[in-house]
Amino acid sequence: MNTNSEQVLDQKSRPLRDLRISVTDRCNLRCTYCMPAEIFGQDYPFLPKGELLSFEELERLAKLFVHQFGVEKIRLTGGEPLMRKDMPELVGKLAGIKGIRDIAMTTNGVLLPVYADKLKKAGLKRVTVSLDSLDDERFKAINGRGVSVSKVLAGIEAAKEAGLGVKINMVVQKGVNEKDILPMARYFKEKGHILRFIEFMDVGNTNEWNRQSVVTKADIIRIINEDMPVEPIDPNYKGEVAKRYGYLDGSGEIGFISSVSDAFCSTCNRARLSAKGELFTCLFASSGFDLRTLIRSGQTDQELAKAIGTVWRNRDDQYSLDRALAKAAPRKKVEMSYIGG
Ligand code: SAM
Ligand code: SF4
Ligand code: SF4
Repeated sequence: MNTNSEQVLDQKSRPLRDLRISVTDRCNLRCTYCMPAEIFGQDYPFLPKGELLSFEELERLAKLFVHQFGVEKIRLTGGEPLMRKDMPELVGKLAGIKGIRDIAMTTNGVLLPVYADKLKKAGLKRVTVSLDSLDDERFKAINGRGVSVSKVLAGIEAAKEAGLGVKINMVVQKGVNEKDILPMARYFKEKGHILRFIEFMDVGNTNEWNRQSVVTKADIIRIINEDMPVEPIDPNYKGEVAKRYGYLDGSGEIGFISSVSDAFCSTCNRARLSAKGELFTCLFASSGFDLRTLIRSGQTDQELAKAIGTVWRNRDDQYSLDRALAKAAPRKKVEMSYIGG
């Protein structure tokens, strides 16, 4: 942690450690669980360019998070982050911030063959590529734009060749892609990439989530164990979100992001910045704190830091824990494509 930074704790004594920045609300895919094509159609009111934080504004805010609050890891996401023009330039600006240890990106991978090299050269360390099936028909139906698996695999290959760390995210939905669990696990075990299974979540208001459509971590482990036994392994660091499991034959690991069956709110240390500069303290929040207006009205760094500190100190979010305890009241939530994963 930076020596000048302030250790700010929220109402549940959780520090602020990671920052996720959504750089755009647009995407070249229409995954059914995230941006269903019927809703995110031709007429959908995506943010106009002037509404987005500029790269200079993003750099200024990121610097504050790093220098004043001790954030060391930044993840770029969206929407599809590579839909925003000149992303290597933004990565270069962020990589130049003293004290940053890790810059990563979550992407659907389609544009990685174009950008992987430039991103790596600019200072990106790792990518997480989302892929829900190796079966072309199923993947085309899930991504809502008829994009082939080979496009994403080419992106993964390009990232690897560029020297970026690569992990794979797979959202599993009952009756949609359970069949793909084993083929995905086998394929990425062979390739040497960590595959992370994500429980389908009730983010946003458009994906028609229900508890019955979730394939839990326990369900997935049962399926994998039949073919390639795994056992739990220690986290890399305290508060790591993904639960790690290693193959008993020693040939790699998988991970689980089990926000529905095993909520991890008690260690959640992530702040999220939306593309138009709102600070969100939970993936399931209804609204964020408008930092853009403060920036554009000429506030000083000190004033901005004070506002960020107040937001974090007041934070008491624990939506997934409340959901598990059946205490989560229905609410209008921000869309995942807007706030970023
Ligand atoms: N477009 C990029 C991508 O797909 O990787 C980045 C943004 S996407 C919103 C970030 C992650 O959230 C992806 O891995 C995606 O699969 C996941 N995601 C989106 N909607 C989800 C949902 N309803 N439940 C669980 N994960 C979801
Ligand atoms: Fe786009 Fe990613 Fe959402 Fe799929 S999950 S629609 S790729 S933002
Ligand atoms: Fe963090 Fe909110 Fe998810 Fe809980 S529900 S882990 S507080 S983002």
